[in-house]
Amino acid sequence: MAELESTFSWSFSRHLTFQECPRKYWFNYYGAWGGWEHDAPAEARELYLLKKISNLHMLAGDVVHRAIAGVLNAFRRGEKADPEETVAWCKAEMQRAFSESKQELWRENPKGFTRLHEHHYGPKPDLPFLQKIAKKIGTCVRAFFKSRPFALIRETDPQKWLSVETLDTFDFEGTEVFAVPDFACPIGDDVVVFDWKTGWPSKTHRSQVILYGLYGVKKWGVARETLLAAPIYLLKGGDFSDRRITEEDAERVSGLMRDSIAKMRDRLQDPQGNVAVRESFQPYPGRVCRSCPFRSVCPEAL
Ligand code: SF4
Repeated sequence: MAELESTFSWSFSRHLTFQECPRKYWFNYYGAWGGWEHDAPAEARELYLLKKISNLHMLAGDVVHRAIAGVLNAFRRGEKADPEETVAWCKAEMQRAFSESKQELWRENPKGFTRLHEHHYGPKPDLPFLQKIAKKIGTCVRAFFKSRPFALIRETDPQKWLSVETLDTFDFEGTEVFAVPDFACPIGDDVVVFDWKTGWPSKTHRSQVILYGLYGVKKWGVARETLLAAPIYLLKGGDFSDRRITEEDAERVSGLMRDSIAKMRDRLQDPQGNVAVRESFQPYPGRVCRSCPFRSVCPEAL
């Protein structure tokens, strides 16, 4: 198999990590590079194992996303999905991941098994916390089934769907940019792009769905004016505001990407070879350290 080459790319989550703490960004995208190889240098191996750490809220979000993709794919095959069976599937997935993290199965296969922050750093999740996570999953899944987006999707022809959690890239001014729209399809003269959210609203979500819209313009060849992109907050009932992507939206998010890419590349020792040294990425210790997977190897951790 050809050796993987470290090349510079951009994604919204990469941008958020860089903003949170440049040192965390370095650990994640550079220090951990190659750590999947069994003969990797000890530091890269350790950082790679830490990079794979998730937490119960993130895990719940991932499970709900996979469940919704499963429901949509079932609909595409002409099958019906049941809300309570879907909730039960999510709970079983959570239990499986929780148990494999506790047994530390990730030591043998870090990519294949879950490693939870709660097991590595503590505090150990107590019963009320686990019940809260289970309740959140149930609320999100049931809200999805009753939501206006799902009702609209059921009226569409699955043959015309453009994306169901499809990871793809597009070129933005010479940089490869990642996009994973949770769902997209034409509805009437519009093209809707939905992004399921299992947490609370954040200002960054609007920019993220606009980015998916820009991806849609490039990849699906749709006109920007026809794009209606929205985060779907499942904890708030799963409705959305019918807001189109305006020219100002597109310019603002293009500016954000341009600026973010320039700041990241500015710190590289060798931009051509995508080489970065740790010292050029200063740490921003603060609240973010509490959930940072690299706490155990970061001397600046608070
Ligand atoms: S522990 Fe804190 S300072 Fe260190 S990398 Fe993580 S977020 Fe940054």
